Amino acid sequence: MSHAPTQELKPVVLHRPALPAAAAPAATWPLEDVLALFDLPFTDLMFRAQQSHRLNFPDGDVELATLLSIKTGGCEEDCGYCPQAARYDTGVEAKKILDIETVLDAARQARDNGATRFCMGAAWRSPKQRDMVKVEEMVREVKALGLETCATLGMLEEGQANRLKEAGLDYYNHNLDSAPEFYDSVISTRAYQDRLDTLGRVREAGLKVCCGGIVGMGETRMQRAGLIAQLANLNPYPESVPVNHLVQVEGTPLFGMDPLDPFEFVRTIAVARITMPKARVRLSAGRRQMGEAVQAMCFLAGANSIFYGDKLLTTDNPEAGDDRMLLDKLGLTTRAAMLERVQQSACGG
Ligand code: SF4
Repeated sequence: MSHAPTQELKPVVLHRPALPAAAAPAATWPLEDVLALFDLPFTDLMFRAQQSHRLNFPDGDVELATLLSIKTGGCEEDCGYCPQAARYDTGVEAKKILDIETVLDAARQARDNGATRFCMGAAWRSPKQRDMVKVEEMVREVKALGLETCATLGMLEEGQANRLKEAGLDYYNHNLDSAPEFYDSVISTRAYQDRLDTLGRVREAGLKVCCGGIVGMGETRMQRAGLIAQLANLNPYPESVPVNHLVQVEGTPLFGMDPLDPFEFVRTIAVARITMPKARVRLSAGRRQMGEAVQAMCFLAGANSIFYGDKLLTTDNPEAGDDRMLLDKLGLTTRAAMLERVQQSACGG
């Protein structure tokens, strides 16, 4: 194996075959090693994930990121999970791109509610020239509010990532969605390599990468491991890893799937934490359906970021107040509160 951990974890006696405890950003993760993590007894896996989490995020804060759909519906792609694809009859209406003031109002509200990152999502195959001008203005203005900026606009062509970087974008989100072996059964209008090409452009432009996937789409455990292996083997791996649970929307091809065992979802979070130890692992879509206990297990497994706000593009998300209550119940600190504390102590306050 070619893992080269940056920091050694204390040895743990698990009476299992030795597995890598943490990976450096450039490490490679053979699929069988990732699968071996998935196959660990649940408590062993959680223990390892906790070790990795505490070693790499000693403050234990949870990042709140708010996602706004700046251009909803009417998308020409055929992602089988997505209610925004024009070809599926899901009741989502195609709308024009939001005006700048609407976006800024939402960003101010997100910031005032404690979000530190604001993500702008558009249902496009890729942004057109006229879209880019508008999005660049949004990025500049949102950044000026003191928020980290993220955008998810589809595939990027040469030069577009650089323009977003120049406008002040911090992160670009582009998910791999699933393992290459399963991908074709969910999406046919863009290839896996197209996604990797966009991620390459994002990296080359000096943007941070937000990249994850969706589980519960009918994939096998091996394919879940395949997704995590793909992500962990990006060099370097993404700074942000959203792990989504499929939200089944009537009218999409994936509506009516057998639900995924919640422990498999928690395992996926834990394996992401172990294989990408320094990434923000984001508990993303599907939280509303999970309930508090499963979410708490996800935090225990190493999730340290959530999407915050009552809508996730077009599907429902827990209310911000419910999230606050859950974090309070679990004694978790938000990143905004942590940053405030750091500032106060720097000022001697
Ligand atoms: S996931 Fe994105 S690209 Fe795919 S159909 Fe939905 S909006 Fe379009």
